[in-house]
Amino acid sequence: MRVFAIAEHRMGELNPTSIELLNLANAIKKESSEAVILGKDVKGFADELAKYADKVWVIQDDSLEFFNPETYVDVLMQFFANNKPDIVLLPNTSFGIELAPLLAVKLNAPVATDVVGVDVSDGVKVSKYIFQGKLMVDLKLREAESYVLAIRQGVFKEGSEVGGSVEEISLKPSEPKRKFVQYIEPEVGEVDITQADILVTVGRGIDDASNIELAEELAELLGGVVAGSRPVIDNGWLPKDRQIGISGKTVKPKLYLGLAVSGAFQHVMGMKDSELIIAINKDPEAPIFGVAHYGIVGDIFEVVPELVEQLSKLKG
Ligand SMILES: Cc1cc2nc3c(=O)[nH]c(=O)nc-3n(C[C@H](O)[C@H](O)[C@H](O)COP(=O)(O)OP(=O)(O)OC[C@H]3O[C@@H](n4cnc5c(N)ncnc54)[C@H](O)[C@@H]3O)c2cc1C
Repeated sequence: MRVFAIAEHRMGELNPTSIELLNLANAIKKESSEAVILGKDVKGFADELAKYADKVWVIQDDSLEFFNPETYVDVLMQFFANNKPDIVLLPNTSFGIELAPLLAVKLNAPVATDVVGVDVSDGVKVSKYIFQGKLMVDLKLREAESYVLAIRQGVFKEGSEVGGSVEEISLKPSEPKRKFVQYIEPEVGEVDITQADILVTVGRGIDDASNIELAEELAELLGGVVAGSRPVIDNGWLPKDRQIGISGKTVKPKLYLGLAVSGAFQHVMGMKDSELIIAINKDPEAPIFGVAHYGIVGDIFEVVPELVEQLSKLKG
């Protein structure tokens, strides 16, 4: 079984999820794990990929400088004509999500996206999220010569080095119908919650925009910044770039302090790897206590002013 991982890179950086794809490829391969990287001046990434792949294929051409699904699929199909894939792995990113269905159609292959588990012991079975992450499902894909799977980021982080070889080949795409024009960077907010060591995170229980001040006071005393759960952002109490969770940002601070956050799955996915998690919630059954290292069952409007007072005293 030849398992191919299509590496993603953008603006001169290799997306680390490319290595995660290879970790999965190594776990399920029967023959080889192979990385394919397309682009202009991408040979530099090959050595890093080769640590985790039996073979790395480098396809360089000026016309592949910017990702264009049409040109990438064109070149990949030329490549696969001589290297039949059993499984093609892509990251479940905007890059992979655009490529996966196009490739699947060309290869006449079953396709599954947002995959978090793959079992090849009896055909190809996948576990994936559906209904925007609310439910998980196990699927058996119909028997086929090739399969295309888009893999969720952050799931296959563990793997060992393989130490493979690198081969460069030359392939050219035909003229695409659409052309890359420019990158437009999103406006960066003044606070980057992904870089903060201490996050005081407010949930819906903060009740009103005017109460955010309380969290800000605590964050300032701790030397941290304020983030929020989705309802807080949806209510306009904090800007969008402060949202933690699957539709917000993934954070890994030294301290995550949750104030009236229930700990819904979609939120926890974005903060569960924080080094220290402390939660304050008046409901002892709140799921956040399931991931917290320490918890206080109490009303934030009583506990937080007390914390602020004690910290202020400590700071003199
Ligand atoms: C597709 C999809 C994507 C989503 N993406 C995200 C995401 O990225 N991030 C995210 O956060 N959510 C996301 N959600 C929403 C998520 O499902 C939850 O609804 C949300 O996380 C709940 O936010 P919360 O904990 O602030 O509010 P709630 O679930 O309403 O919880 C409020 C908590 O505050 C406690 N509380 C109330 N008052 C007090 C008080 N005075 N003192 C102490 N505790 C109090 C309550 O006991 C309760 O546990 C998403 C949902 C979907 C469907």
